[in-house]
Amino acid sequence: MKIKCPKCSKVISLADDKVPRNKEKAMIKCPQCKQSIIFKIPDSIRNKPKPNADKTQIGDTVTFSSTDVFLVDKTSRRRYKLRLGKNIIGRKGDVEIDNNDSYVSRFHCLIEMVKTANGCDIILMDDGSVSGTGKPSTNGTFHNGEKLTKIDKIFLEKNDEIRLGKRTTLVVAFG
Ligand SMILES: [Zn+2]
Repeated sequence: MKIKCPKCSKVISLADDKVPRNKEKAMIKCPQCKQSIIFKIPDSIRNKPKPNADKTQIGDTVTFSSTDVFLVDKTSRRRYKLRLGKNIIGRKGDVEIDNNDSYVSRFHCLIEMVKTANGCDIILMDDGSVSGTGKPSTNGTFHNGEKLTKIDKIFLEKNDEIRLGKRTTLVVAFG
């Protein structure tokens, strides 16, 4: 199957036998611009018998084995628990960053926690939906040093660093 990167328009070819068939959707990283791309797995692939069970699959989504996921402020060591569904991160958000960092917007970015069969997926977005502007936050959200654009949806992994503006860094941790 072929997938077009929504960010840089690169067309990525995936061998059908490398696509996971036990899920409705999966994620790959664009080899050109490193954008995380979530794509639907076509029924034609899902219903095909697996040719070789030992083959390593790519494009599996990152799933946390528990739903106890925290963001830890790297400076203050304060821990914020994420809940299932939408978590608005900001100075007035559900996850209230209260370290007087003026580079953090009141409603800065969004982390969505989605329950899966094995645990949960944690997805970071800075698409302007929480501020209502439709644009990324004023001072930006950075995932492991890379600034998110409006269309980015990043599947977070353990120990990933999320920087808000210039000063606040939150680290993804288990319970
Ligand atoms: Zn790309």
